[in-house]
Amino acid sequence: MADWDRQRSRLSDRLRERVVDEHVLAAIASVPRHRFVPEDKRHAAYADRPLPIGSGQTISAPHMVAIMAALLDLSPGDRVLEIGTGCGYHAAVTAELVGPENVYSVEYHASLADETRETLYATGYGGVSVRAGDGKQGWSEHAPYDRTYLTCAAPDFPTLLVEQTRVGGVLLAPIDDGQQRLIRAEKQADGTLDSEDHGGVRFVPLQ
Ligand code: SAH
Repeated sequence: MADWDRQRSRLSDRLRERVVDEHVLAAIASVPRHRFVPEDKRHAAYADRPLPIGSGQTISAPHMVAIMAALLDLSPGDRVLEIGTGCGYHAAVTAELVGPENVYSVEYHASLADETRETLYATGYGGVSVRAGDGKQGWSEHAPYDRTYLTCAAPDFPTLLVEQTRVGGVLLAPIDDGQQRLIRAEKQADGTLDSEDHGGVRFVPLQ
C-alpha cells in the first residue's frame, strides 16, 4: 500500500470517533486529499486540520467535511449544489456519495474554478460540474437540488439557493449573525425553512 493510502485510511479511522456514517468514512478513505492541496502542503494532507489553499482561502479540516456530509444525509443519485468549490476536495467527497455527475459547484474566483476543474478531472471526478460566478445566484439550470451546502459563511441562506432547493430538501451552511454556527435547514412545503443549530464553526466569509 502506498504511503498516501496508508495515511488516508488512518485518517478515516480516526474520524470514526466523531462521525458514524460508514458511507462518509468510506468516501474520506477514497478521496486523495494530497492531490487537492498545494504541493508544499502535501505532507499535512492527512492531518485532520484546515489547510491554506492560496488567496486567503482554506480547505476545511476532513472532520468538518465528514460532519457536513453526514448532516446532508447524501444518497446515490441526489442532486447537490455546492457553493465555494475551492480546491475541490469537498466536492470530490460529495461526488463519492452521490455520483460525480450529480454535483454542481460554484466558485467565485474564475482562476481557481479553472484550476480545480482540472484537478477534479485528473483525480477521476471530471463528472463534477464547476462554474465560476457568485454562489448567491446558485445554478438555476440544474435546479431543483435535493441538497445545497455552502463552504463559506453567509449572513443567512441566500434566497435564490432556497428557491433552487426542492421542498423536503436540505440546506446546510455556516451562518454568521455575529458568530458562525453550522445550520441545517429543511425546506417546508410553504417555502420556509425548519432550522437546526449544529454548533460553532469557522469558515471564510461568502464574498
Ligand atoms: N470546499 C472547499 C473549501 C472552500 S473555502 C474545498 O474543499 O477546498 C471557501 C470557498 O468559497 C473559496 O474558494 C471562496 O473563493 C469561495 N467563495 C466565497 N464567496 C463565494 C461566493 N459568493 N460564491 C462562490 N464561491 C465563493
